[in-house]
Amino acid sequence: MTRHGSNETTGIGDTSTFDAVVIGAGPAGSASAILLAEAGWRVALVERARFPRRKVCGEFVSGTSRPVLRALGLEAAFDREAGPPVRRVVLMAGRHVVAAPMPAGAGLGRALGRDRLDLLLAERAASLGVTLFQPMRATGIETDARGTSTRIRLEGAAGHEASITARVAIAANGSWERSNLPTDLPRRHEARDELGFKAHFRGDRLPAGDMPLLAFPGGYGGMVRVDDGRLSVSCCIRRDALDHIRREGESAGVAVERHLRATTRGIAETLAGAEPAGAWLAAGPIRPGLRPVHADGVFRAGNLAGEAHPVVAEGISMALQSGWLLARVLLEADLDAASGHEAAAERYARAYRRQFAGRIRAAGLFAALARRPSAHRALAPLLVRAPVLLSFGARLSGKARALPETVPYG
Ligand SMILES: Cc1cc2nc3c(=O)[nH]c(=O)nc-3n(C[C@H](O)[C@H](O)[C@H](O)COP(=O)(O)OP(=O)(O)OC[C@H]3O[C@@H](n4cnc5c(N)ncnc54)[C@H](O)[C@@H]3O)c2cc1C
Repeated sequence: MTRHGSNETTGIGDTSTFDAVVIGAGPAGSASAILLAEAGWRVALVERARFPRRKVCGEFVSGTSRPVLRALGLEAAFDREAGPPVRRVVLMAGRHVVAAPMPAGAGLGRALGRDRLDLLLAERAASLGVTLFQPMRATGIETDARGTSTRIRLEGAAGHEASITARVAIAANGSWERSNLPTDLPRRHEARDELGFKAHFRGDRLPAGDMPLLAFPGGYGGMVRVDDGRLSVSCCIRRDALDHIRREGESAGVAVERHLRATTRGIAETLAGAEPAGAWLAAGPIRPGLRPVHADGVFRAGNLAGEAHPVVAEGISMALQSGWLLARVLLEADLDAASGHEAAAERYARAYRRQFAGRIRAAGLFAALARRPSAHRALAPLLVRAPVLLSFGARLSGKARALPETVPYG
């Protein structure tokens, strides 16, 4: 395993050359790094955080990602550690609790804590010879005039700097953290921003195989069993709603938990007697939408390329799958010429839209419904009579949309 960290001196400060450099060792970055390394590429993977680390995320991995987990060599490890298969989607809104079968077209999904999943992915990458720069932050990206070589500047925790050069640069550093990279999304701070929260609990009462979708005043969220008996509770809440419910001196996470228990019967009953397993984490604002998947000579994967509202719990799958799509496109491209880069970028953009655009739009619609108490009042009785609509919604959100076996050229 080759691993460079800010507490090491060898190699850091020298310019090293790779076939690909990937920024961010979340599911998108690690997936593309693993697949490129397996094909014989020299790959650098840059990650600012030390692993294992918990992360704001509902941690559900949809069944559509199983072929990618297999391709990454992680299917068995995932199955060993993940929570039970999710068989029912449950809507919890106000006093309503409605359950329906999860569509199983592409196999059932399961959930694994991000502290475990991201570590498994990064270790797999390292075992295939990927050079991990961790913990190190990418602070600059410069592409040469021909667009066939990119230099990435890195900074370690102790402030020392390095730079690496690669034929291909992939930005997979997510959409919520700011790095002052040209790939960052524009800064924003608005009352209607949605902030993400997540906590783990033990000793809860969630029936095995259920995944509740939570709709509460000001936001929406989900609960699911992850590894080692832990329950993952995550949600998004509008900034102005959070300001409204938060008491003087209270942490945002504590305010969110109090609000969830007070407004939503299903949550109060599930968490009755449960103990927290770690502190509440916060992130955001979340940035749903479709974005350019290639610009200024840099490919983007995962949340940076496109983000579905977390209400549909598809972000990890989209990250893994976009990493897979991108790696397949790159491995079949002629990257020695600028025209080869452009052709690869166009092919990846088409494949990305075909695979994810519908899911991102459907998620926007569900999030709009989940946010509106008037919609809960109208929809909940309808869903009680026809829970199959919930399964239909899960299907629309991409829970049964399999990846193509090859990436089409057209
Ligand atoms: C409340 C909530 C619940 C969610 N629930 C689910 C769910 O149940 N299922 C699901 O599939 N999705 C869910 N999501 C979405 C999911 O978390 C994201 O879509 C997913 O994490 C995106 O993966 P990624 O690899 O693109 O980026 P990330 O997972 O964000 O990884 C990016 C990595 O880049 C690193 N990084 C950032 N900047 C730099 C830098 N400058 N240099 C080096 N490294 C850097 C970060 O440390 C991080 O490790 C949820 C999101 C929220 C907010």
